[in-house]
Amino acid sequence: MKKFYITTAIDYVNAPPHIGHAYEKVCADTIARWHRMKNEDVYFLTGTDENAQKNAQAAREAGVDVKKFVDGNSKKFIELAKLLNLSNNDFIRTTEKRHVKVSQLIFKKLYDKGDIYKGNYSGYYCEGCEAFITEKELEEGKCPEHHIKPKVLKEETYFFKLSKYGKIILKLLEEGLVEPESRRNEIINRVKGGLNDLSVTRKNVDWGIQVPIDQGHKIYVWIDALVNYISALEYPDGELFKKYWPADIHLIGKGINWFHSVIWPAILISCEIELPKKIFVHGYVNIKGQKISKSLKNVVDPVKLIDKYGADTLRYFLLREIPFGEDGNFSQDSLVTRFNSDLANDLGNLLNRTLTMIEKYFDGRLPEIDRSDLSEIENLKSKTLDTCEQIFKKMDALDFNSALKRIWQLINSANKFIEESKPWVLVKQDPDKLRKVIYALYEILRFVSILIWPFMPSTSDRIRRQMGISRKVKEDFLARLTWGLSQPKTKISKEKPIFPRIKV
Ligand SMILES: [Zn+2]
Repeated sequence: MKKFYITTAIDYVNAPPHIGHAYEKVCADTIARWHRMKNEDVYFLTGTDENAQKNAQAAREAGVDVKKFVDGNSKKFIELAKLLNLSNNDFIRTTEKRHVKVSQLIFKKLYDKGDIYKGNYSGYYCEGCEAFITEKELEEGKCPEHHIKPKVLKEETYFFKLSKYGKIILKLLEEGLVEPESRRNEIINRVKGGLNDLSVTRKNVDWGIQVPIDQGHKIYVWIDALVNYISALEYPDGELFKKYWPADIHLIGKGINWFHSVIWPAILISCEIELPKKIFVHGYVNIKGQKISKSLKNVVDPVKLIDKYGADTLRYFLLREIPFGEDGNFSQDSLVTRFNSDLANDLGNLLNRTLTMIEKYFDGRLPEIDRSDLSEIENLKSKTLDTCEQIFKKMDALDFNSALKRIWQLINSANKFIEESKPWVLVKQDPDKLRKVIYALYEILRFVSILIWPFMPSTSDRIRRQMGISRKVKEDFLARLTWGLSQPKTKISKEKPIFPRIKV
């Protein structure tokens, strides 16, 4: 069985999750489910980054004990993962012992290798990034990511010899480690400008992981946070590590591209650990074209949206609306529009009409058909199979919104087929053809229920339950995408519409 290991970024717990966090996790879940559908042995990891100074600072501002504060917010991320119906196998918190141990081990390995040395650092430090940034990177004197003025910091620190790895990193990037290409090129251009050694510890802070060779220092975010991808697998001796590493995809946002595409590979090379196969950089969810930020007061709470519209509606909207790898916009208006057109009108109606006809014309059981001549539904069959082939390609290319578009084209051709074949006329004039029409519609719905599973798992279940077919996702889900597998006489159990229209 082929293995597949996918990770998300781990989130800061300085605040509860917003819709941008939900977006990344939903994308990762869709990829994980797609690979499960392909019968691969999938391991899907997500988690929270809890040792950051940023969290400690937020706790102090809130007047709460830091540990209590991060526990509280981390719980909200875990809760969100459940609400979004994520299929993650593990959720790592970087305050856990299992992580602290590996983070210190990696630090020690780098030190023993001679890649960590003590020195002094002075420079611009952005508290949002938790990183020193160069003067070149500043925009009007501010951090381009956080729009805040960096502090000038000078302190004793340990450096990691990042500069040593410039050439090999450049080669890795040129070989295609990072996707999409535009994001890769940004990094290539920066690496060509040369790499500086990296400050990897901080002095005089209370919160964080102890540097194993110096009591006065805490490990800085890189050798802490990035290490979660292997600490969760119990590096170096754990069965999980042996089985699943290297990661097949690290899914991250563009704001942390540099750290994953340059610093992380350098750490791994130095420790002689295999490199991840792919780093995929997704875009941001914007609100009215603006980045989500506390200071802009445009934070959208995904939990409220799930309460109101359901997890699958939010999942569908984000995956359908935002081309993967690019930025996209969120608004409740466009979510409601998509809900009413795509979910209520197209998908919901197809299911409802088909099941209603089975109830009305065939006493609630899928009719038997004469298989000697299927010419009347041949067209629909080939369209369906052709759609599947195209969707497989789109899914492997992580082109989710195109895959969804294709699924909806199939749904709409089925709806059109109802209009054209007029079952309400056939019932009197050509009952033989009516049976074939109904059978074909039912088959398409069965295909759709499988194809949407990575995107909308509970909707897939609900559709299959109403159609009277096994609700459980079978391991051979892809093999079920064979035309003609539906069993005549299957009893349907129609329920109320899965997506009742929202009144605007
Ligand atoms: Zn910043």
